[in-house]
Amino acid sequence: MQIENIAPAQETVREWLKKPRHQLLIGGQWVDPAVGRTLSTINPATGEVLAQIAAADAGDVDRAVAAARKAFDDGQWRSMTPAIRARLLWRIADLIDAHIDELSELETLDQGKALYVGRWAEIPMAAEQFRFFAGLCTKVTGDTIPSSINYQPAGKRVAAYTTKEPVGVVAAITPWNSPLIMHAMKLAPALAAGCTVVLKPAEETSLTALRLAELLVEAGVPAGVVNVVTGLGSVVGAALAAHPQVDKVAFTGSTQTGRAILDGAKGNLKKVTLELGGKSPVVIMPDADLDAAIAGAANAIFFNGGQVCVAGSRLYVHRSIFDKVVEGVAEIARGIRLGHGLSPDTQMGPLVSKRQADRVKAYIDAAVADGATLVTGGGQKGPAGTFIEPTLITNADPKSAIVCEEVFGPVVVAAPFDDVAEVVAAANDTEFGLAASVWTQDLSAAHRLSSDIRAGTVWVNCHSFWDVALPIGGFKQSGWGRESGAGAIENYLEIKTVCMVL
Ligand code: NAD
Repeated sequence: MQIENIAPAQETVREWLKKPRHQLLIGGQWVDPAVGRTLSTINPATGEVLAQIAAADAGDVDRAVAAARKAFDDGQWRSMTPAIRARLLWRIADLIDAHIDELSELETLDQGKALYVGRWAEIPMAAEQFRFFAGLCTKVTGDTIPSSINYQPAGKRVAAYTTKEPVGVVAAITPWNSPLIMHAMKLAPALAAGCTVVLKPAEETSLTALRLAELLVEAGVPAGVVNVVTGLGSVVGAALAAHPQVDKVAFTGSTQTGRAILDGAKGNLKKVTLELGGKSPVVIMPDADLDAAIAGAANAIFFNGGQVCVAGSRLYVHRSIFDKVVEGVAEIARGIRLGHGLSPDTQMGPLVSKRQADRVKAYIDAAVADGATLVTGGGQKGPAGTFIEPTLITNADPKSAIVCEEVFGPVVVAAPFDDVAEVVAAANDTEFGLAASVWTQDLSAAHRLSSDIRAGTVWVNCHSFWDVALPIGGFKQSGWGRESGAGAIENYLEIKTVCMVL
């Protein structure tokens, strides 16, 4: 498979990538890491080095946390009127929109994704996160609460109310699959609540975090309110999770790293929200609109190369239509055009790295060696070995790794079922509980399955329909808490009760 090197169309991207190295944003200043180490960030389509980013260490984390602590403790940011903070968040959204082509190209070069994924889905959604939470800045309220305390002093009254206050310094740690939207899902509610932030993007895909940081400075975010520290998860992420001056960790990533975050966070019992992995079932009932269901099932797994936390990686199809659906999804898979994400013809880019592609390929090979049937795909290609063909597997052992573990690539495992009870049991036979979709025209099947499947989101006759107003997060080992939706601002607030004798 030949991959032409495609230069970005945006002049600003070409210029930006010429910087000899990218620095850290700490206390409003762009600075080098103290030890001066760098990491290469690679274009996964070609394997070429795109840029050098700073490889921070624990000392740099200390400096960034101190800057965030100072910006929180001096009170200027959190006591800024909510209306002014809202305008600032809105300005960030406008700047993202104004730079949408540039940010989309940068994301594609760094992550590999087909350009349309960033340009039409993820980057506009990132801007909407800032607008949605801008609207909530002025709506953070408490309650007045009638008290029934019976030992109040005679002749006195008890008045009680609650206020909500920002939790403090937040460490936001994000993954590589959809970087900018992941940063926005944490920054927007944290800033709306009045918190200050140290953002640590994934080492594979730090470029849009750094460009976003420049836009935050341009929007007028005060020094120290947002700091960006790039580097390895085992160094920078671990130091943030364990840092005694960090009040909260907002993490999105794998379930395994989520456990490491919890270990680190226990020292000062910091607050933790976790958005983790998934193994989401797609259930197609016999009465489903088959054209829509087949296209939907294919999109559920192949969008963004399957590097989506809610990817529909387990496909359960009623036995009466199983062969037809499998053939339909396989036909779509065979027709997907792989290529450089910047090529307008490309429908699916490479995976983020050779390491991830090797991992996905190993899952496929192990399933086939174990007796599963490879209906289509399975190949690993490209000059850097980063492309994985859209893959459909049947006859897999329900207890095998390909069925139970998150593969995080364009690989779906299909199995037939005979009745609703059987498919509910199969859908729930997982340690994860992030999302599911159900395809049916039958109202009672739609309600019954939505209720019985243990997952944070159940889509009916659609999959991966995202909206900043809709909470997203996991049951079981898919996480703690929810992002998006009005409730997400509560992740960054503490309730204070005030009780007075008057
Ligand atoms: P990952 O867990 O390897 O890394 C995520 C982030 O954690 C990165 O910034 C990484 O540098 C950092 N990190 C790594 N080790 C660390 C440590 N010991 N301490 C602190 N931080 C550390 O995940 P990934 O491979 O980048 O992303 C893929 C995973 O993210 C998948 O499991 C996917 O399901 C999950 N994800 C979940 C959601 C969701 O909303 N539930 C969304 C997107 C991705």
